[in-house]
Amino acid sequence: MQFLFVKYRVSGIDFYDSKGIWRIFDFPNINPFTMKIKSVLFILLLLGSSLFSYAQKIHVNRVDPPSWWTGMHNPHLQLLVFGPKISETQPVIDYDGIRLAEVIHVASPDYLFLNLVISPKTQPGTFTIRFKKGKKEITSYQYTLNKRDKNPKLHQGFDNSDVIYLLMPDRFANGDTTNDNMPGMLEKADRSNPNGRHGGDIKGIEDHLDYLKDLGITTIWSTPLMEDNLPTYSYHGYAQTDYYKVDPRFGTNQDYKNLVQEAHRKGLKVIQDMVFNHCGTNYFWKNDLPTPDWYHQWPKFTRSNYHGGVVSDPHASKYDYHRMVAGWFDTSMPDLNQDNPLVANYLIQNSIWWIEYAGLDGVRQDTYPYPYKDFMAKWMQRILEEYPHFNVVGETWFSYPATVAYWLENNRNKDGYHSHLTNVFDFPLMYAINRAFNEKPGWDTGLARLYEVISQDFVYNDPMKLGIFCGNHDSNRIFSSLHENLKAWKMAMAFLMTTRGIPEIYYGDEILMTGEKSKGDGNLRKDFPGGWPGDQMNAFTPQGRTAEQNDAFNYLRKLLHWRKNTPAVQYGKLTHYIVENGIYVYFRSYKGQRVMVMLNNNNKPVTVDMARFAEDLNGFSKGKDVISGKVLNSLNRIVMPAKSPLIVELMK
Ligand code: CA
Repeated sequence: MQFLFVKYRVSGIDFYDSKGIWRIFDFPNINPFTMKIKSVLFILLLLGSSLFSYAQKIHVNRVDPPSWWTGMHNPHLQLLVFGPKISETQPVIDYDGIRLAEVIHVASPDYLFLNLVISPKTQPGTFTIRFKKGKKEITSYQYTLNKRDKNPKLHQGFDNSDVIYLLMPDRFANGDTTNDNMPGMLEKADRSNPNGRHGGDIKGIEDHLDYLKDLGITTIWSTPLMEDNLPTYSYHGYAQTDYYKVDPRFGTNQDYKNLVQEAHRKGLKVIQDMVFNHCGTNYFWKNDLPTPDWYHQWPKFTRSNYHGGVVSDPHASKYDYHRMVAGWFDTSMPDLNQDNPLVANYLIQNSIWWIEYAGLDGVRQDTYPYPYKDFMAKWMQRILEEYPHFNVVGETWFSYPATVAYWLENNRNKDGYHSHLTNVFDFPLMYAINRAFNEKPGWDTGLARLYEVISQDFVYNDPMKLGIFCGNHDSNRIFSSLHENLKAWKMAMAFLMTTRGIPEIYYGDEILMTGEKSKGDGNLRKDFPGGWPGDQMNAFTPQGRTAEQNDAFNYLRKLLHWRKNTPAVQYGKLTHYIVENGIYVYFRSYKGQRVMVMLNNNNKPVTVDMARFAEDLNGFSKGKDVISGKVLNSLNRIVMPAKSPLIVELMK
């Protein structure tokens, strides 16, 4: 009944239009007089819509996934069919190689779930799903199976040879000002609002692939690009309202696919950000959920407690656990119930659809511990079943290595949990980096923080699988954390690019952008200067950067290009020495290549007696300073300038 699709709100009315698309009509003002007008309008709309429902024909509004492929490893496909009263029909498919194994009816009459089995010999093509009542065809839907792209270069994942560049598409570059405001999209561009949309898009990323290539990163991770059609705070994309559609203010699905292809042509990889714990309130199913338990329901709005640690905590209460996984992330972010197999399938197929459609190299999954962990393990297994060399990195935001380690594949967890998750983010190291370079040497302060975190690597099945970083879109920018001290920043970058793990840089860190969490998220996510037509500065070019910015950019650029060709810092065994007198020294060794890194966190030069590093210097008589190119002819004593890094390729 169309009647059921009308919802009266304090500030307006939500309803389906004649095409079955969810619309929101907001009343301009609220005062006692307009309240009366609103009531009359509401009753009129109610009458109109219930009359309209008599004329409403059964039809299909939407089928998810919108297409699929032949030649997939797993032959099963579950289609969500959405349309008014579609459950009153019997679907029929007549296509060689496709068997309609099961039709699932749910609580809402406006859905059917079709379980298809696609035999290995099925040919690509378009087939018709006929929805019948008796012998009469009521409506039909054309569905396409494409041929799977078996190019062996696709879906190969990322590893320790990569450096990830995290960017926010709304804040990186506005390559197409014509899409800043789009019909049907609730929030309009407002660059003066730190929490508003600024107009950045896929074209902006594509326009600067050469910049990124020149900087020396290998992999782009963009925060979510899918539609986020909420009236405010929609720019970050973490309240998605269509898992199958790029937000039109960023571009189209085809634009995204083209971006990935163009990146691949330039030798860059692309990681997609996915968010399966929650969607946005304006998802098409918002007031017509397939089943009542599609979202976790609470008597009144209940937030998650955000304590992801309770999931692995052997002493956790059931209450805390339930609040953690079933509480909502925010009022605008309903909590999906992945315990419902239909929800689980919807999300799993969505990931596979994007990996296949766009040719992705990797996935970053948001709020990793928030969905049910058994679902996440199943999700990972399904991805690896189709793409055995693929990588997924989880947002495992914990202060301690042990809780991060719980989520990494093959970890020996006491409760037997196996996540199958190939990569996790090293948040404990992020915290240490943001403090270490500001502090005076001490037993457990200063650089000792770095040593202490890394010395706990025994908890990880494989610490090389950690994504390492100084900051992201949710944390202080590193240059701000380091009180805008360029020398400290260079040490942080030198450390990040040479210790174990897969480094990630947050966009703009290379030009010393600042941002503080205490000033709001918008402060961490400022526009990249030069990304917008008419910007006063264009930091994408050397001419547009200050001398200090060029110093930083060139330093990082040199490090990144050197790292690309230095297997020792990518894959090498790490040996580190306890921090003494504010000096941290470590070595990376791989197939005869050995790199030594020294960090002097003192505000004065220090002459280092190298005797205690003999086991790693044995067999090497000199070395080359990677940044200056100068040769060190003796390794007996090394003079470290104040507050500085030294990276040396050891030579026989
Ligand atoms: Ca734009």
